[in-house]
Amino acid sequence: MEIKSNYSLKKHNTFGVDVSCNTFVTLTNQKEASDYVQNKLDKTQPYLLIGEGSNILFINDFEGTVIHMQNKGFEVLDETHKNVWIKAAAGEIWDDFVAWSVERKYAGAENLSLIPGTVGAAPIQNIGAYGIELSEIFNGLEAIEIETGELRRFYLRELQFGYRDSLFKQELKNKYIITAVILKLNKFPFFKIDYGNIKAELESMSYENLSIAIIRQAIINIRNRKLPDPKLRGNAGSFFKNPIVNQKMHNELIKRFPKLASYDLKNGSFKLAAAWLIDQAGFKGLKKGNVAVHENQALILTNLGQASGKELLSFSEEIQRKIEEMFGVELEREVNII
Ligand SMILES: Cc1cc2nc3c(=O)[nH]c(=O)nc-3n(C[C@H](O)[C@H](O)[C@H](O)COP(=O)(O)OP(=O)(O)OC[C@H]3O[C@@H](n4cnc5c(N)ncnc54)[C@H](O)[C@@H]3O)c2cc1C
Repeated sequence: MEIKSNYSLKKHNTFGVDVSCNTFVTLTNQKEASDYVQNKLDKTQPYLLIGEGSNILFINDFEGTVIHMQNKGFEVLDETHKNVWIKAAAGEIWDDFVAWSVERKYAGAENLSLIPGTVGAAPIQNIGAYGIELSEIFNGLEAIEIETGELRRFYLRELQFGYRDSLFKQELKNKYIITAVILKLNKFPFFKIDYGNIKAELESMSYENLSIAIIRQAIINIRNRKLPDPKLRGNAGSFFKNPIVNQKMHNELIKRFPKLASYDLKNGSFKLAAAWLIDQAGFKGLKKGNVAVHENQALILTNLGQASGKELLSFSEEIQRKIEEMFGVELEREVNII
């Protein structure tokens, strides 16, 4: 366990916003986490869990304790001829887990390659990309209850996973330290290559037989081209969620905007491409002070160097207002504002 006071969070958020916290605690195993919350954490003051800070925008210094779970390791819990159950420590980097599983030919996580952040944060917003969501390979998780220090196990059916959503983003937000995630992967791969430009990328690559390693490489290539590297330009990936509208609203929008980019969810509702809306509203590539909307992907807000959290938030609110005014659609934030 390591405890630091008046600690800068600049390196702990991918927006690179220069804020600090009163106390920063690094925990390296489950027992330490349990002891810490029972005996040392001042629960009368605010506290916050942090992984890699790739889905957080700090708009002020954090006047409380930031808890950083840094336990490590991957362990095969069980296997059959078809499946394998792996327990991954919360402090592991998500993409290291994907690389580890692909190397062993355990399939299911490859489409989630290169998503920044930790294993422990992955269930919080049910990370998703390229036609896959974490919920499809999630089996359970272990977490320490902050109030009592007790270890609890949660299973798939309890997590209430939704689009960039889970029980831990709602009722249980900030109530548990997730210490491990259990994933169920497949020994016989089922390739998911229909989404976005995966097929086109595969066509441009040379390989003999399609494999999960090739799909992982294709996704890494696409993401590296499309998304800004937070080390070079601060960002937190998609700032907004893709809005979901009902059939009536969708019909009205199509009449007004025949090229509307949307996806039929086949349940009477449609997912709109927020990037398309933001692009149509003229924000793509737009710079304002120290903030810009990324030139290749309108869903991403970037810090041009010295932006404060408030500046980033204010620009995001301007985008929300304009989208509401132009399309009558509410853009919900994906990023956590702290
Ligand atoms: C360039 C870029 C691309 C991205 N692309 C995608 C994408 O394709 N799909 C996608 O879904 N997301 C994407 N994201 C968002 C981000 O990678 C994910 O949300 C990721 O899971 C966040 O992990 P983190 O460790 O950085 O969490 P943090 O940002 O540190 O925290 C996120 C939330 O989880 C909570 N939390 C963190 N660790 C724990 C823990 N151990 N226990 C309990 N609560 C915890 C925090 O309190 C906070 O509420 C992208 C971000 C970037 C910068």
